[in-house]
Amino acid sequence: MANPLYDALFAPLAGQTRAFFHLPDGAAISGAAFHDMIAELAMGLRAAGVAKGDRVAVQAAKSPRAMAIYAASVSIGAVYLPLNPAYTAAEVDYFIGNAAPRLFFCDPSARAALAPIAARHGARLETLAANGAVSLPLSGGAGFAPAPCTGADLAAILYTSGTTGRSKGAMLSHDNLWSNAQVLADVWQFTADDVLLHALPIFHTHGLFVATNTVLVAGASMIFLPSFDVGQVLAALPHSTVMMGVPTFYTRLLDSPAFSRDLAAHMRLFVSGSAPLLAETHAAFEARTGLAILERYGMTETNMNTSNPNAGARRAGTVGMPLPGVELRIIEGGAEVPQGAIGMITVRGPNVFRGYWQMPEKTAEELSADGWFSTGDLGMIDDLGYVQIVGRAKDLIISGGFNVYPKEVEMALDAADGVLESAVIGLPHPDFGEAVFAVLVAQKGVDLDAGAVLASLSGQIAKFKQPKGAVVLTDLPRNAMGKVQKADLRKAYGDWFSKPS
Ligand code: AMP
Repeated sequence: MANPLYDALFAPLAGQTRAFFHLPDGAAISGAAFHDMIAELAMGLRAAGVAKGDRVAVQAAKSPRAMAIYAASVSIGAVYLPLNPAYTAAEVDYFIGNAAPRLFFCDPSARAALAPIAARHGARLETLAANGAVSLPLSGGAGFAPAPCTGADLAAILYTSGTTGRSKGAMLSHDNLWSNAQVLADVWQFTADDVLLHALPIFHTHGLFVATNTVLVAGASMIFLPSFDVGQVLAALPHSTVMMGVPTFYTRLLDSPAFSRDLAAHMRLFVSGSAPLLAETHAAFEARTGLAILERYGMTETNMNTSNPNAGARRAGTVGMPLPGVELRIIEGGAEVPQGAIGMITVRGPNVFRGYWQMPEKTAEELSADGWFSTGDLGMIDDLGYVQIVGRAKDLIISGGFNVYPKEVEMALDAADGVLESAVIGLPHPDFGEAVFAVLVAQKGVDLDAGAVLASLSGQIAKFKQPKGAVVLTDLPRNAMGKVQKADLRKAYGDWFSKPS
């Protein structure tokens, strides 16, 4: 029996003399050297008692060695569990308690704080430094052979960002990851000549799976940056062919006068996801570079679901069509809605996860017995078959009994004079139940008058959709993946309409 992910992604690296990782200091790691690193770690993990099905948790800086721990874990049939380095010890306590890993790698600077947590939950603690040094005893990869696995065996558990309640561990199988990598490499037409500019974090599905697995399945290589730094990205662009990013990567590039058509001339593809890309950013990017950003849609639980076409119209404000093998339906009240109507996006396919770790009730709530996953995103299919996302269901505002989709109001606000971007939320209101509230960010150098912006919406959108209050902030609160943290905004302004005036 084979090991699906090892066979498809990592075995082909063995003996490959050309560079797989290009590092910012000019060094490179060949495919063969990376494969040796994986084999050595696999042997080290086994020697430490990690067996098939055991979890291996990593909370550490981005490095090739961290990628090798992912590869080594799945190669021996273990389950990889990456954690955001920004999580506090209290948050880590929950994840380690919930997932009960056999082994936990943390940054050397966090060892003292995390040792009691690891001990309490029975995990062996080792360190992984930003330069790739590990405390786990290693003695070469001689004798390494991958563990036999089926496609249904777990390869990883990724905790959802969980803005409400506890984070849930999404269980992803070898087949989930392998099938999505195959499809993406195919639809985005990756070849061995591609060089991916990798500036995403690797604790999240976007940088860990979408970017890396696609490169691996195509036999391509990557420029591996520790994080998104505009200067480093500008320097790397002429040596790259593809970049995957969150929308803030693109707005930050556009903010740099040095970002030019010439600098992007070697690039064939820019992909955006993890948060909505403003139509305005799409247009500005195309005007600057001559290239249309390709927007796609996915999530931790499902890998990628839809994509704009590589060859064909990339429509701004849409996330494209379902990927081959992915079924997508828009559901309202248990039934599929007609084309153009808004409802819950549901998906089914080999990409869809196997449920939430040790949460059978949560799994049953969102994943039906016949494989349909309720994404929590509201959307519709437009007249050309492209999917448009209108927001998370939990962000839907019901004001005086009427549904208000924040995206529609945000689009009207963003088009108003002097507004750079906006976030629309619902806040408790004594008369309406919830009232629409706008958080605005001004364009550079503009002294924004929130009242005037709200007044400008009259006649543009129905009265019940018009915000009844607004504030101007210098920035919207975002997480590491560029997602606007609406729960934080709701908390900060929760008593806006109920406080005595
Ligand atoms: P995560 O599990 O952290 O990857 O978050 C997944 C969520 O991000 C999805 O359910 C969507 O709400 C959002 N998302 C991902 N890609 C897009 C996109 N292209 N446009 C709008 N929202 C997106």
